[in-house]
Amino acid sequence: MSLYTQKNQNILIVDDIADNLRVLSNTLSEQGYKIRCAKNGSMALKAASKVIPDLILLDIKMPGMNGYEVCQQLKQAPKTKDIPVIFLSALDDILDKLKAFEVGGLDYITKPFQVEEVLIRVKNQLDLQAAKAEIRNLNQQLEQKVEERTHQLNISNQKLAKANQQLKQEIIERQKAEQQMIHDALHDGLTGLPNRTLLMDRIDQAIQHAKRNPSHLFALLFIDLDRFKIINDSLGHSVGDKLLIAIAKLLSKDLRSLDTVARLGGDEFVILLDNLDSLQDATQVGDRLQEKLQMPLDLAGQNIFTSASIGIALSSSGYENSSEVLRDADIAMYRAKEKGKARYEIFDQDMYTQTLKAIELEHNLRLALENQEFSLYYQPIISLENNSLAGFEALIRWQHPPHGFISPVDFIPLAEDTGLIVAIGDWVLAQACQQLATWQQQYATIPEMASLKISVNVACTQFQKPDFIAKLEQILRQTNLHPSCLRLEITERVLVDSKINTQQTLSEIRKRQIKLSIDDFGIGYSSLSYLRRLPIDNLKIDRSFIKNMNSDIESLEIVKTIITLAHNLGMDAIAEGVETAAQAKKLKTLGCEYAQGYLFAKPLSAKAIKLILENKQSGVTLAKPQDDRENKGDIVGS
Ligand code: C2E
Ligand code: MG
Ligand code: MG
Repeated sequence: MSLYTQKNQNILIVDDIADNLRVLSNTLSEQGYKIRCAKNGSMALKAASKVIPDLILLDIKMPGMNGYEVCQQLKQAPKTKDIPVIFLSALDDILDKLKAFEVGGLDYITKPFQVEEVLIRVKNQLDLQAAKAEIRNLNQQLEQKVEERTHQLNISNQKLAKANQQLKQEIIERQKAEQQMIHDALHDGLTGLPNRTLLMDRIDQAIQHAKRNPSHLFALLFIDLDRFKIINDSLGHSVGDKLLIAIAKLLSKDLRSLDTVARLGGDEFVILLDNLDSLQDATQVGDRLQEKLQMPLDLAGQNIFTSASIGIALSSSGYENSSEVLRDADIAMYRAKEKGKARYEIFDQDMYTQTLKAIELEHNLRLALENQEFSLYYQPIISLENNSLAGFEALIRWQHPPHGFISPVDFIPLAEDTGLIVAIGDWVLAQACQQLATWQQQYATIPEMASLKISVNVACTQFQKPDFIAKLEQILRQTNLHPSCLRLEITERVLVDSKINTQQTLSEIRKRQIKLSIDDFGIGYSSLSYLRRLPIDNLKIDRSFIKNMNSDIESLEIVKTIITLAHNLGMDAIAEGVETAAQAKKLKTLGCEYAQGYLFAKPLSAKAIKLILENKQSGVTLAKPQDDRENKGDIVGS
């Protein structure tokens, strides 16, 4: 049996001769085929459509419908068209054979037939059909596999496409993040304005343009808000931030697209005006800005008044790099501040020279402590009641080897700006306490010696240091000076500056019996109701009021008011800058407790004071002791 031979294959035999049917049926049944028989064409068609046979043996010559017609009908019906047909006929004619193939027969057996031939041809046909079916099956399987693979491929392609899409998205997002990072690196987070880096780049570009084309003009405006610190400290950082954002908007308004508004940090803004028609345009912008900045800003319902100091640097100075331009605009801005704020100044070479001097001064100041160029002078403070010596104010002096004497008025503000005041102030405190302690020891026999006070000026930054109290304690311990002999002179600025808990520090000082004076009283901004709550011992009436009190009624009224205020608050009054006997007399009648001034003595060196004390001890009345360098005043009450 061939590979394809299957048992129980179904064969339909169609023949009008019963013997033929029987012989064929028997023979094939013996071979294991299932046989059905049909005596004519119509029966054959019915049988074939009912149960599809695997093969039909079809006689040609039959009454009624002949074999050809049967075969044609079978081939026309979709259900039966694939049934293989082998014709059986006695007609041994070539034309009939051709017709048999034409109508769709697959083979042809001539009657009388030999059984073996029939079996072989049947078997061959069935095998062929089986082989065809298997090929069809294999093809189908193959097609299915191809379909499956195609499907899988499609899925993979879809996945790949999706992955590609994701990748593209990721790349876009990365690029966006990168752009954001670049933007952030070049812009200020709060206001969104270009930052220093971007500004410097734009200035450099403007400089390059100006170098290539001398008619290319630009200007840089350095803008610093005048009262930002106060607003930030008193109204809080969130209002401060809002103010900065509002200022950023205000500055950016009405500018050309060529111009750059940048924020350097804090309350510092810069505007680069590039490619100007004329440098005067810069001053016009300065005027316009001043006008705009003077309008109140509405910050969440709060009207804030602000102003700014502006420094302008012009390209006509022939700059080489952006730092130079920024430096000069900054210098001019400082000049605008010095000249009273809320204005602009244009940079010129003189400003630069003066700034260099200031830088040199700062440099020298840093070395001055190390080089022991400072010394203290002591100005006697006199009790007006009986003209007796009540104490001294320690005043610093700087003897700079090449430059000579430099006034504290010139270097104390610089020392405050640079923070050097803390080290200098520590030295002054220690030195002054030490000096009074030494004198108290040396001249213990002078009756008022133990109650003499040394007044020491304390700067705002110094006072605000968290370790200030600890330092005071340490100095008093080391010098063995009684705390009540030390009097700290602070200015009203210390009281209005909200950086620290001023009241707490003042209470700590009071607890230690150290005395407190408000220096230069009357020219500052202290709130009188606030003053009432502070543990202050004296008000020092500013020199400017004393100077004019005998000629100007207003000054006299102020002096009176301050003395009354001091008394009402349980404090003593000390008059500063008393130069005439008339002033001293008037002050005494007004009830002022103490006075200090050239009338009594100028600030004197320790050596000069020593001389006075020695004379006091020996009971000698000193006529006019002169300080070796600067004293021109009389010492009274000795
Ligand atoms: P101040 O504390 O108000 O000191 C009084 C100033 O008035 C002193 O100037 C003194 O020489 C001057 N003076 C005193 N009597 C008269 C007078 O009758 N007529 C005139 N025209 N002036 C008089 P000085 O020594 O130049 O000090 C100036 C300022 O420098 C001081 O003002 C004080 O604010 C500051 N200062 C001085 N030494 C120190 C210090 O050690 N530390 C700190 N933080 N500041 C100091
Ligand atoms: Mg003072
Ligand atoms: Mg003073």
